[in-house]
Amino acid sequence: MTPHELWRAVLGELELAISPANFKTWFGQTQLQSFESGTITISVPNAIAKTWLENKYQKQIIQSIERILGQPVQKIVFRIESAARPVVQAIEAVQIAQPQQHSVTSQNHNPSVAPAANQSRPQLINRADAPSMQTTVTERIEAKNKFGLNPRYTFETFIVGKTNELAHAAAQAVANRPGEVYNPLFIYGGVGLGKTHLIQAIGNRISANDPNTKILYISSERFTNEFVAAIRSGSIKQFKETYRSIDLLLIDDIQFIAGKTETQEEFFHTFNELHQANRQIVMTSDRPPKAIPGLEDRLRSRFEWGMIADVASPDLETRVAILESKCIEKKCALSKELLQVIATLVKSNIRELEGALNKILAHHQLRGESPTVDSVKSLLSGYEEQSYKKSLTPKELTVVVAQYFDISVDELMSANREKRLAFPRQIIMFLLREELKCSFPSIGQEMGGRDHTTAMHAYEKITRELENDMKLKQDLAAIRQRLYTITQG
Ligand code: ADP
Ligand code: MG
Repeated sequence: MTPHELWRAVLGELELAISPANFKTWFGQTQLQSFESGTITISVPNAIAKTWLENKYQKQIIQSIERILGQPVQKIVFRIESAARPVVQAIEAVQIAQPQQHSVTSQNHNPSVAPAANQSRPQLINRADAPSMQTTVTERIEAKNKFGLNPRYTFETFIVGKTNELAHAAAQAVANRPGEVYNPLFIYGGVGLGKTHLIQAIGNRISANDPNTKILYISSERFTNEFVAAIRSGSIKQFKETYRSIDLLLIDDIQFIAGKTETQEEFFHTFNELHQANRQIVMTSDRPPKAIPGLEDRLRSRFEWGMIADVASPDLETRVAILESKCIEKKCALSKELLQVIATLVKSNIRELEGALNKILAHHQLRGESPTVDSVKSLLSGYEEQSYKKSLTPKELTVVVAQYFDISVDELMSANREKRLAFPRQIIMFLLREELKCSFPSIGQEMGGRDHTTAMHAYEKITRELENDMKLKQDLAAIRQRLYTITQG
């Protein structure tokens, strides 16, 4: 067995065991160089991958090699080899772990903005030119590059758990070496899970490291509004120049750009200009690029060039840790027992968790009482019931899943058995059972008059696949998050 074949086999095993995002990111550009007297040498593309593999995957790699070779491994060495070529061509997203220059076709390239223009200082947009903008982009860049960044959102105040560690690591890597490691970085996940916190932490860190960096933090909605206002006021040239002179572009909630043709076109050119000049771009979204309906393909593919990392709902342990840190921040002392009670009752997201804590603090401060387990439970009694199970209807659930997979409800209800429809259908049937406790016959009914055995099979199939399928787990977590969102208004 050659080192090449051995590594292929190891990657084959690991790919099944870890999430696709993790796999692509950390193993996409690795190669097994040698296996001599019990020492394995693996080449990795950069220091971040080295550290991550050493700390996180060393054991799994060793176990896998030992299993395949049937002999013990004494030592494993990760060597940084910047020109490491991907060993497995089948790993589609090899570019994820290494920055690459992507040539932009001349049709898409805007020759009027040469790279040199990117270095020039932005011109201040005359306020009279854009009366509807409260503060223009330019003003914000000039405002010590910090405008729009909340100083509270730093890496120091971000608690890392299993469900956000990848996004956190990627954000740190980008903050420490902007434009060099993952460009763009795309962070996705449900509401209140820390996307805005992370993207702003990147801005705050970079601004602290180099106060001269031109940073722009903006929501995609605001980008759209400013673009429209610039067109209306005839200041589109300044708009373009300003955006293309930025060193670090942080776009929050990029999903809102979908369906807006002109804005997407403009953003496409901005993206290309910045990316070509090695300027870092970071985006957040409530779902992965491929699941954003109405997003142009050329943007979708660009969003997937760099690294895609998700944030999901934190587990109990992480929720307690977050509460502890928020208590320190707010200088309040709640016992671990009380924090445990809060974290058990409030599960959906971190914003809710903070809200619950604030509610408890305010309530007791006003009355000059100390919180007890009972008082906390009674104050948070609403949260327990606030799960979507109460108000969500089967129709709403179906619509959410249909939107998530970008297909129509009619197609879902049809007799068409194509895989792209059959799989979302099974997910709906699974969720109707799991979340709404519907009976199998009523699920069949709900799904366009299918037999109850179809619903049973779907439920069993998804339950079984959930054991090993990380992708499926991530999809379900994202869908559940959206179910929470709609029922919480
Ligand atoms: P999103 O943008 O994903 O909707 P936010 O970034 O606005 O979520 O987070 C909501 C709140 O929860 C913020 O106050 C943020 O500081 C806090 N928060 C989210 N994730 C974490 C975390 N891992 N550690 C500490 N606080 C967090
Ligand atoms: Mg946000």
